[in-house]
Amino acid sequence: MQGKLNVQTENIFPVIKKFLYSDHEIFLRELISNAVDATQKLKTLSTRGDFKGELGDLTIDVKIDSKKKTLTVSDRGIGMTADEVEKYINQIAFSGVTDFMEKYKDSHEPLIGHFGLGFYSAFMVSDKVEIFTKSWKDEPAQHWSCEGNPEFSMEEDKKHTDRGTDIVLHIADDCKEFLEESTILQLLKKYCRFMPVAIRFGEESVWVDSETDCDKDGKPKRVEKKQPRIINDPEPAWKKSPSSLTDEDYKKFYHELFPMNFEEPLFQIHLNVDYPFNLTGILYFPKVRKTIDPNRNKIQLYCNQVFVTDQVEGVVPDYLMLLHGVLDSPDIPLNVSRSYLQSDGNVKKISQHISKKVADKLEEMSKNLGTRTSSSAEDSKADETTAHPGKSALEDKWDDIKIFVQYGMLTDEKFCERAMKFYLLKGVDGTYYTLDSYREKIKALQTDKDKTVCYLYASNAEEEHAYIEKAKAKGYDVLLMDSPLESHFINLLEQKIEKTRFVRVDSDTVEKLIPHDDSIPEKLSKEEKEKLQPIIEGEIDKQRFTVQLESLEESDAPMQVTQSEFMRRYREMAQTSGGGMGFYGELPESYNLVVNINHPLIGRVLNETDAEKQKDLVHQLTDLALLANGLLKGEALSKFLKRSVEMI
Ligand code: ADP
Repeated sequence: MQGKLNVQTENIFPVIKKFLYSDHEIFLRELISNAVDATQKLKTLSTRGDFKGELGDLTIDVKIDSKKKTLTVSDRGIGMTADEVEKYINQIAFSGVTDFMEKYKDSHEPLIGHFGLGFYSAFMVSDKVEIFTKSWKDEPAQHWSCEGNPEFSMEEDKKHTDRGTDIVLHIADDCKEFLEESTILQLLKKYCRFMPVAIRFGEESVWVDSETDCDKDGKPKRVEKKQPRIINDPEPAWKKSPSSLTDEDYKKFYHELFPMNFEEPLFQIHLNVDYPFNLTGILYFPKVRKTIDPNRNKIQLYCNQVFVTDQVEGVVPDYLMLLHGVLDSPDIPLNVSRSYLQSDGNVKKISQHISKKVADKLEEMSKNLGTRTSSSAEDSKADETTAHPGKSALEDKWDDIKIFVQYGMLTDEKFCERAMKFYLLKGVDGTYYTLDSYREKIKALQTDKDKTVCYLYASNAEEEHAYIEKAKAKGYDVLLMDSPLESHFINLLEQKIEKTRFVRVDSDTVEKLIPHDDSIPEKLSKEEKEKLQPIIEGEIDKQRFTVQLESLEESDAPMQVTQSEFMRRYREMAQTSGGGMGFYGELPESYNLVVNINHPLIGRVLNETDAEKQKDLVHQLTDLALLANGLLKGEALSKFLKRSVEMI
């Protein structure tokens, strides 16, 4: 039989071919998906008792014939009768393609997955496509052939007696790469790695015991043997029940997914929902240490075990892009553009669900004080292998996921609300506190005269050591806040928790960090202070330092260097957020030079009559203050050392 496809335009095939040019490799995914569907349908018919014959080996075969320049996909599924070819291939499939082209011909945005092209995507790489098919029903096999124009031929095929379908692609000259084993293998690994029916392609070597040869100890020799290569894992971990999997299984699967990631994931969430949308998957928490953008695009999106994309922007909230793993959902519309995707109701629900599950998991880990929990929730399976008694599983992993949680709290309102309950603050001594318990701990001593609770923190315990010690000596507690997001995060906490102020330990003298009402009597008169100020200012770099005369304890240092909390924090925020706050980022680093007017040495400076000696004394005192801050370097440091020796 000869026929003409039901198309309006003569030249739709060149369009198919050009369409999505960079992505025409998806034809293989489409054809193998069809083969998988046909196989699954046959299995269903068999379990229902409609099909009574032998299922036999249902493995799908992919073969290259380089002489004939063909690529063949063969399945042993339900096959098609002549009527079905007419209906599904000549009419329905084709109208599907026409619809698709019509809808997206003006689209400039990449489409998710490019689903919808189906069988006809074969023409993106072929001059001619043939179908040999025999239905499971007792009907003659069919041979369909089409050369990429609207004419096709169809005839009975006497030679074909085996159930199933062979799709034979005569690869076009400009698509020769699809006749290379390495290209096809790579595509199969990309798109078909977890398809639910075994797929065979080429051969692979395995090492086995020889049946005939022995070594001198009488043991069988190891010999190389060729065997057919199965390229997929038809039962990936995410499709299994969480209770049937151990932590080892999860880790093994992680390495199967990301063979090039050598670091172990910290823990994982197994998603398994079927109402009101269908979603399965496993999300792993990797270590996120010093940077917030280490390895994006590590979440693979599948649709019924068929790989779609690893670009999941819009499907999961931005902060969750830091996670690694797989999501599988037939409810994510795939033949739409990315901007549409974000407004899709199902996608929104899925995204919220994932976010909620992540919060659930972290909350559960925060409660789990070192005891083993059974995996009660649908998808939770904590990794307790390294948990210590008395320490929650969350504390254990906190340093590695803190940035992730901060990023989530900064960008997702709902997640932030949840996380306020389990977020952990860490003291410089390594103790962890929830936000509530910490406030309780410091409230008594660290509330200032305006009833604001002052949280003291250090960004670097080593560099700010002297300040930390001073604060501790006063009975204050000091937090370690050292992530690159910290300045943004501190602003967030100050908004979320009323009557709260964060102050870095070096942003003022210890007396002023938390201002209480009791002030220390001043030893210098107003006139003396006015005389002192220019003496000191004359000897320092006024661009970098502002002199502040303060009345401190006599036992405090004569001079100290501090850095305004506000200026420093905004400067840091500008540096980590790029545009928008440019002005603050441009600010030079500036410091306060706090002069303790009650210190005897400052009295000496004031009363020194020898101008040279007075200068030396001021330099010596400022250098000591800089030294305590790690700010004295290079030539200034050499001069200081020399001067010190001379003064001694
Ligand atoms: P879709 O798979 O989205 O329905 P396709 O264009 O890929 O669209 O295929 C159209 C129809 O052709 C399928 O729904 C199926 O009925 C039939 N078909 C395609 N490939 C096969 C196959 N290998 N075995 C049996 N039927 C097939």
